[in-house]
Amino acid sequence: MNNEIVDITIIGGGPTGLFASFYAGMREMSVKIIDSLPQLGGQLIELYPDKYIYDVGGFPKILAKDLVANLVTQAHYAKPEILLGETAMSVTRDGDHFILKTDKGTHLTRTILLTAGIGAFQPRKIGLPEETHFEGKTLHYGIKDLNLFKDKNVLVCGGGDSAVDWAMMLEDIAANVSLVHRRERFTAHETSVNQLMSSKVNVYTSRGIKTILGEDGAVREVIITEKDGTEETIAIDHLIVNYGNISSLGAIKDWGLEMDRNSILVNSRMETNIEGIYAAGDVTNYDGKVKLIAVGLGEAPIAVNHAKAHIDPKARLQPLHSTSVFN
Ligand SMILES: Cc1cc2nc3c(=O)[nH]c(=O)nc-3n(C[C@H](O)[C@H](O)[C@H](O)COP(=O)(O)OP(=O)(O)OC[C@H]3O[C@@H](n4cnc5c(N)ncnc54)[C@H](O)[C@@H]3O)c2cc1C
Repeated sequence: MNNEIVDITIIGGGPTGLFASFYAGMREMSVKIIDSLPQLGGQLIELYPDKYIYDVGGFPKILAKDLVANLVTQAHYAKPEILLGETAMSVTRDGDHFILKTDKGTHLTRTILLTAGIGAFQPRKIGLPEETHFEGKTLHYGIKDLNLFKDKNVLVCGGGDSAVDWAMMLEDIAANVSLVHRRERFTAHETSVNQLMSSKVNVYTSRGIKTILGEDGAVREVIITEKDGTEETIAIDHLIVNYGNISSLGAIKDWGLEMDRNSILVNSRMETNIEGIYAAGDVTNYDGKVKLIAVGLGEAPIAVNHAKAHIDPKARLQPLHSTSVFN
């Protein structure tokens, strides 16, 4: 056990947690970041490193991995202790600090900031017996490197934002892109759907994937079916499935936090119902909540400033401008 008590332990090293680290450094707090994944960046690195993001202030267009690289650089300002591949399990209070237990050890901390996003997550599988032959080779549940699909025939499955975004990003990279969605209507943003419909992508709605055919991990073709049983065969080299994620906050659900399904309820100070434990980003819920990177980046400073004032009631809640720290 590392007996040093840090000011703030950030659970979750996604964009919200990373920006919180920077901010806590600016408030001269000692910081520890814990994440169960082997790398920082949360959903952006795990699910869509090569996707462009257009809705973060100051960046008209930025790749998810580049945004994370910037956030990691910024996070290091706090000189945080970073523990990867480690999952937060339980918490108890001991006087003026918490004893936080993970699957790897015990940590002492004055405050905790939960930026655990959707929790530990894994993609929802396609659900066909042959899927294991192709997984990680030509059947993908996320895109780590767009170059893999250069000049290939690609089929994207799903009707949400991820599926539509991927199809559109691959349009000019792949030889041919098809998109299969089991429903008639898409749940993706309507602007994206309009762009999709006027793109070169072959769109098949109200159809499901019946069989994947191929050998030695290489997909050759898929058979898709309509509700009336009509079948069609599409020749492909890669299949990208976007059926969402199965996620769970796991042990955090047993901490006694007020929850709304898989989200933690917070007030306008990003305080949870447990004094000294804050939450920000996708993991939170409150009236009017919107789950976006930009929102998490705004909630992080709110949480950190209140955590600072909690530890040191004489500290200013409203910080000085960042220029006064860096000049
Ligand atoms: C395909 C896709 C495209 C998207 N595109 C956009 C977009 O264009 N613009 C936009 O604003 N948003 C987009 N989003 C949503 C965006 O990714 C999220 O809003 C954002 O990642 C939330 O950041 P976060 O830091 O709050 O949580 P996350 O990114 O989910 O990070 C949480 C971290 O906490 C860790 N963690 C969880 N539980 C524990 C635990 N018990 N112990 C230790 N670590 C734990 C996880 O491993 C994870 O690394 C997209 C999402 C997807 C899936």
